[in-house]
Amino acid sequence: MQEDLIEGDEWDVLIAGGGVAGAATAAALAPLGLKILVVEPGPSQARRLAGELIHPPGIDGLRQLGLLAEGTPLGAPVHGFAVFPFSEGADAAMLLPYGAVREHRTPGYAIEHRLLKAHLLAQVQSLPGVTVWLGARVVGMERDPGPAFRAVVRHGRGQTALRARLVVGADGPRSPVRKLIGIPHQTQRYSGMLGVEVADTHLPHGGYGNIFLTPTGVAYAYGIGAGRARVMFEVLKGADPGASIRVQLGAFPVPFRRDVERALAAGKPLAAANFCIIPDGTVKANVALVGDARGCCHPLTASGITAAVKDALILRDALCEAGFDVTLALRRYARLCGRLQLTRRTLAEELREAFLAETPETLLLSQCIFAYWRASPGGRIRSMALLSSLDNSLVSLAWQYTLVALQAFRLLPRWLKSRTLGSWCRGLLKFFHKSLKFQQAALRQRVEERLALGD
Ligand SMILES: Cc1cc2nc3c(=O)[nH]c(=O)nc-3n(C[C@H](O)[C@H](O)[C@H](O)COP(=O)(O)OP(=O)(O)OC[C@H]3O[C@@H](n4cnc5c(N)ncnc54)[C@H](O)[C@@H]3O)c2cc1C
Repeated sequence: MQEDLIEGDEWDVLIAGGGVAGAATAAALAPLGLKILVVEPGPSQARRLAGELIHPPGIDGLRQLGLLAEGTPLGAPVHGFAVFPFSEGADAAMLLPYGAVREHRTPGYAIEHRLLKAHLLAQVQSLPGVTVWLGARVVGMERDPGPAFRAVVRHGRGQTALRARLVVGADGPRSPVRKLIGIPHQTQRYSGMLGVEVADTHLPHGGYGNIFLTPTGVAYAYGIGAGRARVMFEVLKGADPGASIRVQLGAFPVPFRRDVERALAAGKPLAAANFCIIPDGTVKANVALVGDARGCCHPLTASGITAAVKDALILRDALCEAGFDVTLALRRYARLCGRLQLTRRTLAEELREAFLAETPETLLLSQCIFAYWRASPGGRIRSMALLSSLDNSLVSLAWQYTLVALQAFRLLPRWLKSRTLGSWCRGLLKFFHKSLKFQQAALRQRVEERLALGD
């Protein structure tokens, strides 16, 4: 223990982190009449790229929480994805609109990350029962004594040990809280991301998240409001950034490409790293992890913010259903958000592998996905429900994967014109092996969930 450590007040809930997950959790728990402390170090000096595109279930959740009133002049509406397959040129986008999904009550939105975070934190600061310590951070987690943890918070005046019935780690993908309470994790670094802002005048599909698939990685472009658009380029591990960006620019329609080239020449792009982080657990004693602290995946599905908002809602519901019995509530929370996370991560990994198409098997998968989307409007709707986290069911994912795999039979004559029957058979075997694996995981998860919910 540090010499200057003093005992502080007791709180019902202490939330480490005032990003999307922390703000959403504070807003979800405040109406329960709890005394809540949010500890946030404040914006870091270096601006980094982070999530901006929020799917309809995320916007709906933020509205339910009173954090984003309808008509708030932030960002730009998003109506779905426009996916550009590499082989088919800059004009051939496959549109996956949200509008076709009945349950989407609102469009998605893309909001500049810094604006979003500042807006959410300002909203939370005005909530009754919520106190925000800006410029403070959690630097230690101590046993209380007993199984519960108390948080050691460093702030202007020194360090204070704070007791709370519930401590929430909403402190991002590298979560210090997760480390301090001893939940190990696996990390896989996929790639880096470089991004610039341009005028949205020549954005290929305004009002859509444009996704350009190329062999050097995925490029993204979407409007963020006030006539501006964000463009991001993926740079794979060990790849030359300049060469990767050139290939990805080649997938853009010419007028938009020129705008982006000018923006790249004018200034240094913002950067970020793309990780997959899988912690060994989501809860421990009186601590729950939410948002990226609870795990993150490749941003291809643009679902991190939506998932963070859903975590907050699941945690609130679990606490209400368990009558604020923290142990019971956290067990329910861990099971339910585990399902969300597993489906989201599996989808992101499968799509990433297919879209990079580094082997004949993954190229076949990519072709099957597009064949499925072209042939089936219903398939596009169900895919969008999974991509937007409206549908979190691994069973749905397993079923969709099987329907995609079946397209391989339709593609066989075309495939044999340029490739071998052997590669087609290997691809098909891989699909069915994976499809069985997903169905098995879905079944296991269903049983575990039922046990946890006491059904
Ligand atoms: C390049 C890129 C693009 C992405 N694109 C999208 C997208 O389009 N759509 C989407 O939904 N998601 C996207 N994501 C993911 C999205 O950014 C995250 O899922 C989301 O920001 C997670 O929010 P969070 O609140 O969990 O974590 P963070 O936003 O990381 O917030 C964590 C907070 O904890 C604070 N903190 C850190 N240490 C401590 C401490 N010791 N004590 C207290 N507080 C602490 C930090 O200051 C920070 O404010 C993208 C991610 C990347 C990297």
